[in-house]
Amino acid sequence: GLNRTRDAALRARAEKVVPSGMWGHLHAAKLPDAYPQFFGRGEGGVLWDVDGNRYVDFMCSWGPNLLGHHHPEVDEAAERQRREGDCLNGPAEVMVELAELVVDMVGHADWTQFQKNGTDATTACVTIARAATGKRKMLVAKGAYHGAVPWCSPSLLGVTAEDRAHLSYFKFNDVESLEEAVKAAGDDLAGILVSAYRHDMGFDQELPSAEFAQAARRLCSDKGAVLILDEVRAGFRLDMAGSWEALGVRPDMSAWSKAIANGYALAAVTGADWLRRAASQVFVTGSFWAGAVSMAAAAATLKIVRRDDVPNRLAYLGRLLREGLETRSRQFGLSIRQSGPAQMPTVLFDDDPDFGKGFAFCNAMLERGVYFHPKHNMFLCAAHTEADIAAALDAAEHSFSVVAALGTGSEGRMGRS
Ligand code: PMP
Repeated sequence: GLNRTRDAALRARAEKVVPSGMWGHLHAAKLPDAYPQFFGRGEGGVLWDVDGNRYVDFMCSWGPNLLGHHHPEVDEAAERQRREGDCLNGPAEVMVELAELVVDMVGHADWTQFQKNGTDATTACVTIARAATGKRKMLVAKGAYHGAVPWCSPSLLGVTAEDRAHLSYFKFNDVESLEEAVKAAGDDLAGILVSAYRHDMGFDQELPSAEFAQAARRLCSDKGAVLILDEVRAGFRLDMAGSWEALGVRPDMSAWSKAIANGYALAAVTGADWLRRAASQVFVTGSFWAGAVSMAAAAATLKIVRRDDVPNRLAYLGRLLREGLETRSRQFGLSIRQSGPAQMPTVLFDDDPDFGKGFAFCNAMLERGVYFHPKHNMFLCAAHTEADIAAALDAAEHSFSVVAALGTGSEGRMGRS
């Protein structure tokens, strides 16, 4: 097994001063047993935990690591700004440069506003949509994640029914259920908020059908409602102009975060002209939203995304990984399902209702120096090399053999799911 001395000591200390030692989706208790809670450093597409164990990393900080840790151009732009100032009485010059860049790159965008986390951006979109329409109902896909505040949190603990009073649900990619939800909202429809594609944890990923995207567009346009695309997770990995550009469907607003500044804290809302007035009138702000360092990092990141056609590079690497995993799993008579875009793969095992095979596989991968996730979609970054993919596939060959040796019973269950 891996050395876990420092990690264990830090967990014991954290338990005393942080409720349950860690919060939310980053709690290592939700992962297979071998997984560390604490990390030491990152470089490119590689991560070291606090005990110095090295991993080729396919979670990429759950999305933000797009170009690789310590990308020299991004870090230099951030450092240059840091020397001038970060948290001032208002934004630095770089805000305007960044806004121009975002508006230029994103197909539907006539304007943009910046925040910190993805939840800030989705929440601002909902507020702006309600302000612009004077309506209340917001439709979201059942099971989709849009953030961690009462109006949208996946947990109902600490949430009141009133917080959800004007949220209604449809089934992703199901035009009929979307039409029904729109009908039920009557003349109180503020908007439809939908992820770039379906990436709910623990399920096969699903790309939107053109019919579904077009129906969402048509229904919003007919009702004078706002079509909001949640690009927080997929943004800049699939299409730098917007994830629905290839479908020929443009939202009225989009929420972005994660990859936008390659790991520096930033989020953005982009919108069409007709929402400009509402966006200027609602009260959305935060102490750190004007931070100049992350904006400088974002400007550098987006220029590189465009210059190097990063989505295309990630798709190439992702295909190498996907094809290699498919061949190697077959070698051991295992049946896996790889879903979603190649840039953001989800790997699930057939006949694995409690994720026992997935947990055993990921534990074995981790012990061979590859950080995978058993349930959530993963992420490629542009700093991954062909050698990193080859190393992952070598580890996978061993890890599939471990799963194959478990047989089909529940004795393969490792860790909690
Ligand atoms: N929307 C989507 C699609 C996300 O994946 C996330 C984060 N996982 C969020 C919103 C919320 O972003 P944050 O955690 O930065 O608030």
